[in-house]
Amino acid sequence: MSEFDSDSEPSQFPATRCADCGALYGHEAFVCRECSSEEFEDAPLDGSGTVYARTTIRVPGSDQQGEEPFEVAVVDVGGAESVRVTARIEDNPEVGPEDPVEFVERRDGVFYFEAV
Ligand SMILES: [Zn+2]
Repeated sequence: MSEFDSDSEPSQFPATRCADCGALYGHEAFVCRECSSEEFEDAPLDGSGTVYARTTIRVPGSDQQGEEPFEVAVVDVGGAESVRVTARIEDNPEVGPEDPVEFVERRDGVFYFEAV
């Protein structure tokens, strides 16, 4: 699949929603922090997002050792309803606050976005 295909198909971000109170979650949640429910349902959001902040990871978790240092971004993703997630930016670590990004995929539990 060429990288140009991403223009024709808007990506969707795989958020989840509390089945009881409707709270949205980007990262997987097991207990709702709003109402303590343990029931969640899929709630795909618009995959376009905006960088809120970025930071450089120099001491990564055990599953990413050997990759440091790398950039992670805090991204607000979704439309009218959005969630804030921590993500990696593919191929372009130089994004900054307010830059638009698009969700690519989730790999090994890590969200990947690309600059647009
Ligand atoms: Zn809830």
